[in-house]
Amino acid sequence: MAVLVCGGAGYIGSHTVLELLEHQEEVIVVDNLVTGSRAAVLEKARLYIGDIQEEQFLEKIFENHQINAVIHFAANSLVSESVNDPLKYYQNNVHGTLCLLKIMVKFNVKKIVFSSTAATYGEPVNIPILETDPTNPTNPYGETKLTTEKMLRWADDAYGIKHVILRYFNVAGAHIDGKLGEDHSPETHLIPLILQVALDKRDEILIFGADYDTDDGTCVRDYIHVTDIAQAHILALEKLNNDNTSAIYNLGNGKGFSVKEVIDCVRKLTKHPIPVSISPRRPGDPAILIASSKKAVKELGWKPKYGDLETMISSAWEWFKKHPEGYGSNGK
Ligand code: UDP
Repeated sequence: MAVLVCGGAGYIGSHTVLELLEHQEEVIVVDNLVTGSRAAVLEKARLYIGDIQEEQFLEKIFENHQINAVIHFAANSLVSESVNDPLKYYQNNVHGTLCLLKIMVKFNVKKIVFSSTAATYGEPVNIPILETDPTNPTNPYGETKLTTEKMLRWADDAYGIKHVILRYFNVAGAHIDGKLGEDHSPETHLIPLILQVALDKRDEILIFGADYDTDDGTCVRDYIHVTDIAQAHILALEKLNNDNTSAIYNLGNGKGFSVKEVIDCVRKLTKHPIPVSISPRRPGDPAILIASSKKAVKELGWKPKYGDLETMISSAWEWFKKHPEGYGSNGK
């Protein structure tokens, strides 16, 4: 029996494939390589290049392999892009999952682990955020993930497809042995952008707002190492195999770091001065996002191993030093 990983050539997907292989799973990856990289898919995994919205393509894979469960990462995930082009997000994120679920129904595959996001909460009403807190997304990205979560709930009721929804906070870092890393184009995330400054590929980092109601005026986020996130997917699969019930979990460290604290940590680790400029707030950015992940710790037995910010940044730094162009032009 195999695990199908949709979006397994992307940042979190590729790290999860590595963990699955280390757990001796047979892994089938589907990726359209629009944002993923071929080079991020380890050789032991079988890669099919194509889009989950192509029914015949997906059907062939379900015919060729005995799939026990699906882990679904394949989506667009840029907040500002989603504001400018919401229909792209409904198309790829909502319709993409709909196509996948239709095939799962057809082939009687009843388990799915779904990549969701803290953006489903919108402006938080409590810190740390609990899974039971209200969900009011402030951008189409978060909305399309929430819509998909709801689709999964109805699919559970109607077809008995059980899900584990994982709401990620700020995923960061690279594989600790340097096997895999982060490669986004365009890059929009804070830590890789600061590391581009450290590599002199960028002159400065713009701080999006220094007038928030936080200790130093900059936004506070909950950073979590990508391998810890990947591990949670293994545990989510185990849960589905063991108790066959659906659930939602936050995945974060329960600790927050401000934008300025992250920049200072990069300065310390790289010895680069990292010039900064203060620029206006980015629309839709809440002041503080910190997860309560107690539920994942208690119910999944999740134990994040790389929780300190220095480990997250230094693993990313090692990766970027060796791969300044990411997976490079051959990566596709
Ligand atoms: N941020 C920033 N400058 C940048 C990129 C990000 O000040 O060039 C801030 C952003 O406003 C947020 C935090 O860094 O408060 C993390 O942003 P990122 O895009 O990495 O993740 P998000 O929180 O949007 O998922």
